[in-house]
Parts: sequence; structure tokens; C-alpha cells
Amino acid sequence: MTATLIDGKAFAALIREKVATHVARIKEAQGVTPGLAVVLVGDDPASEVYVRSKGKQTVEAGMNSFEHKLPVDTTQEALLELIETLNADPSVHGILVQLPLPSHLDESLVINAIDPAKDVDGFHISNVGLLATGQKSMVPCTPLGCVMMLRDQLGDLSGKDAVVIGRSNIVGKPMAQLLLRESCTVTIAHSRTKDLPEVVKRADIVVAAVGRANFVQGDWIKPGATVIDVGINRIPAPERGEGKSRLVGDVDFAAAKEVAGAITPVPGGVGPMTIACLLANTLTACCRAHGLAEPD
Ligand code: NDP
Repeated sequence: MTATLIDGKAFAALIREKVATHVARIKEAQGVTPGLAVVLVGDDPASEVYVRSKGKQTVEAGMNSFEHKLPVDTTQEALLELIETLNADPSVHGILVQLPLPSHLDESLVINAIDPAKDVDGFHISNVGLLATGQKSMVPCTPLGCVMMLRDQLGDLSGKDAVVIGRSNIVGKPMAQLLLRESCTVTIAHSRTKDLPEVVKRADIVVAAVGRANFVQGDWIKPGATVIDVGINRIPAPERGEGKSRLVGDVDFAAAKEVAGAITPVPGGVGPMTIACLLANTLTACCRAHGLAEPD
């Protein structure tokens, strides 16, 4: 059996289109343009690529993009001052601080300085608490994209056995909260989990967010399960030429696709959905700020 490929790229394009249509409507009817401010400290090449891509897609959706590139030696005080300015700016509806920050900066202090209503990454402690207590919040983009793909693929998720591998604050934990909200029976696995293959084998839904290339083996997967691969790992690819590399996920895709019912590829799965959900969150934040109907 070969699994259905979950096409995150195509799904993300649909979301972006819906966002752009809604943005055009509120611009026309209300004269409001959603704005996203992205803050990048330092010159990490991977972060620069993400920030560029976010800015480009924001503009393509008809929204305003405000990029703030700060030097690597930016002080905590200066960064907090910028966040205060963005919090107070009515043309900015979403604020995203690109992580990781240089080590002299206190990530949680910085994230919690963002106005929770503008926290489009959903990492502010208020949004984390609201999500955990089942209240309206800003939902982290990567897990939001994962749950959208799962609902699209499987319909009602209630009663499904879901295993999330990874317990980070940005992926694993909010992913588990969202699956719980969908009435799944959720297990969170991590580096201390005993007999991980057996844990994964009972899952109807597997979400891998580990950060280790090809870690989840094909024979761990229950036949017919849906596999969402969050991992982005760069590995050497000598077959493409000397010094070349390629991206792979946390799941051994070639083996897993022979067992799973459906699976996301890497690249082209979760990645594009994350940015599409960021645009959707920015639009939602803008609608809430102006008392407008939220997009569905
Ligand atoms: P973290 O490093 O913060 O977390 C990794 C998690 O994996 C930890 O909870 C860790 O457990 C667990 N883990 C590590 N080794 C094992 C093991 N041997 N068995 C079981 N669990 C293990 O990573 P992130 O959550 O930030 O990211 C995970 C992956 O997702 C990365 O590849 C990242 O690049 C990717 N990513 C992709 C995004 C996208 O848009 N597609 C967005 C964000 C991340 P413990 O807590 O016990 O240490």
C-alpha cells in the first residue's frame, strides 16, 4: 500500500487565497489593511530566509509587512522598546519575533512583552493559558496548520488515538492541546519515553516534532495511520554533487509511506502551512482589533 500524500503546498495556497480575498474585502469595505511586523535580531541565514519569505507572502496577501532587522548585539532594553512601539502602533496587528534569539536575550521575557492580541505566533503566556483552558486565543501557526491538514484528511478527529513526539512549547505542547480540543486521545512522547515504537504503533495519528532526520521508522507506524512530519532537517546529499544537502523530515518517509494511510512530505507538507497560518492569524488579529467578523 502507498499512502496518500498530504499536499501542504497546495493547501497553503488555498488558505493564502482565502486570506487575500478577505483582506481585499475589509480594505474595500472598512478601509483597514492588516499589518504584520517581523523582528529579526542577528544574521542567522535560516532565519533570514524565513523572514524574507514571510514578508513576501504577507505583501502578496495584500497586507502591510514591516520588517525590523536588528544587529546581533541589540540589547534587551532596545528590543523591548521596539516591541512597546509596535504594541502601540495601530497599523500593526501582528508581531512576530523570529526565534531563536541570540543567547544574551531572554526569549520568554521578550515574547511576553508582546501584546497578547498581536501575538500571532501564539507563544505569549496568556495565549498558552487561553488555549489550555479552551478559550479563544491566538493559536501557534505550526500546530494550527497540522490540525487543519488532519481535519481536511480525516474529517472528525474525535476518539482517534494521537501520539505527538516532542514536547516543545512551540510545537509539541500546543499540538497536543489542539488534538485534545478535537477530542483525540492524546499521548505526548519525548526523549524519556519508554518503548517509543510500541507507543507510536497504537496511534491513528502520529505527529513527529523531534528534530532528528528520519527518526521515526516505517515499522513503528500502524497500517493506515495518518502521519504528520513537522521536522525540518538538513542532511548531506552527495548524490546531488559535492557539498550539496537536502531537507528531510523526522520520519523515514520512504518506509512510512508504504504503511501509512496518509503522510505529509518534507519539504511541501507542514512548512508552507505554517506561513499560511501566520497570515491567517494576522488577519484574525486585525479583525478582532477592529471588531470585524473573523474569517472562518
Ligand atoms: P525541540 O528541539 O525544541 O524539541 C524536540 C523534542 O523532541 C523534545 O521534546 C525532545 O524531548 C524530543 N526528542 C528528542 N529526542 C528524542 C527521542 N530520541 N525520542 C523521543 N523524543 C525525542 O524542537 P522543536 O519542537 O522546536 O522542533 C522540532 C522539529 O520541527 C525540528 O526539526 C524543527 O526544525 C521543526 N519545526 C518545523 C516547523 C515548520 O514550520 N515545519 C516549525 C517549527 C519547528 P525532550 O523534551 O525530552 O528533550
